[in-house]
Amino acid sequence: MSPRDDALPGLALRDVSVEHVELGADRLANYEVSVVDRALSDQGGDAPRGASFFGHDPKLEGLVPFGHKLPAHLVLTLDSSDQRVAALNISVGPVIRLVHPYYYSQGESFSYHHQGENQIEFTNFRGVADGSWPHEGLASTLPAHDIKILVIKGKPQRKWGDCSTIFMGNDAPTVQNYSGRKCAACSARETRLIASIPSRPAPGVNIWNNDFVFALFWFCEKCKAITTHNECD
Ligand SMILES: [Zn+2]
Repeated sequence: MSPRDDALPGLALRDVSVEHVELGADRLANYEVSVVDRALSDQGGDAPRGASFFGHDPKLEGLVPFGHKLPAHLVLTLDSSDQRVAALNISVGPVIRLVHPYYYSQGESFSYHHQGENQIEFTNFRGVADGSWPHEGLASTLPAHDIKILVIKGKPQRKWGDCSTIFMGNDAPTVQNYSGRKCAACSARETRLIASIPSRPAPGVNIWNNDFVFALFWFCEKCKAITTHNECD
């Protein structure tokens, strides 16, 4: 944990240390991610951001899909050297980027590959951007914030009305039932759920103007693509 977080007044965030991760060999980790209510400078600035964080990173290339003008949104950056992140077993390199093309996301599945720490490439992109979708005035980047990653013991469950908690892991709660999801890049069925991002994941952010829509992320073991789509209640 960053010592800076301890100095924040008025925050009732539960702390967790890496030592608390206890995983059986046959079991993948599940986490709840809370976004800290303190914006980071988009440019780095004086406040060094944690290795894992929420929101935009100007270093990431590839957010504008080939042939399109509007960008996809970087939602989460995860540092694989963090034991908790490593336990998710998403083998795309030292940094995992969770990206969702909200401007284009009207039911399609999108996939992208990591091309290094600071680059992604969309490998399946069929969406068409609509300036008024998901609602008029959605900023083209999400504000950057520190995050806290909390281990969940037992089966993760989203409380009724909770549209702010991010879940990570194969057991992340979803509103639809899935028996896997076809990889949008290679069509393999060997995908597993890695995250569910709700509509209001950070202070002042309301992505869908609808609390019952979520962005889901799946990892393909075969081709290492991440497939993402939205789901609603
Ligand atoms: Zn695949």
